[in-house]
Amino acid sequence: MNILQIILKNAGKQSRTRKPDDRVPFPVDFRGELSHNALQCTLCGTCTYVCSPAAIEITQEDDMGHWDYDAGQCTFCGRCVEYCPTKALSFLQNSTPLANNRPQQKTFHVVEYQKCTRCGTKIIPLAYETLVHLYHSEEAAKKAVEIHKLCEKCRNRLQSQTLKSGISGSRD
Ligand code: SF4
Ligand code: SF4
Repeated sequence: MNILQIILKNAGKQSRTRKPDDRVPFPVDFRGELSHNALQCTLCGTCTYVCSPAAIEITQEDDMGHWDYDAGQCTFCGRCVEYCPTKALSFLQNSTPLANNRPQQKTFHVVEYQKCTRCGTKIIPLAYETLVHLYHSEEAAKKAVEIHKLCEKCRNRLQSQTLKSGISGSRD
């Protein structure tokens, strides 16, 4: 077969070049770019505790905290995603981690403190999405929003007051 015949034969075939829309789909459990939702983060520190290569760092200031991540140090083991109690961390399914670009591999997020609605103590309340996850329903989460705007002490105090009034009410 001469070169002309080969060209004519190939001209009739479809292109074998893969275009972006035609790419092989990512597997369902693909660990792509690590995504951190600062609105759901309570700066609990669990992710830093389970991260062996120290890719995540948390620092705290007076009225805000910082959650910083370096993809260049991350091994994509998935432990932080697995153990984050508020579901603030996830792997993006359709996004590969940025490579060979050090400044862009870093994420710097600010998490702002709020004040307990009773005593003014500095807190980071659980986000609504986290409450839905914890209480397994939107209805229960809506009821829990107000109590989660309180610090732990005020929450315990309110719960024991409610308990006491319930007991005295049942005696009457
Ligand atoms: S991302 Fe999750 S585990 Fe890490 S500090 Fe925030 S809430 Fe805690
Ligand atoms: S995926 Fe693993 S290595 Fe990467 S930040 Fe999370 S715990 Fe650390």
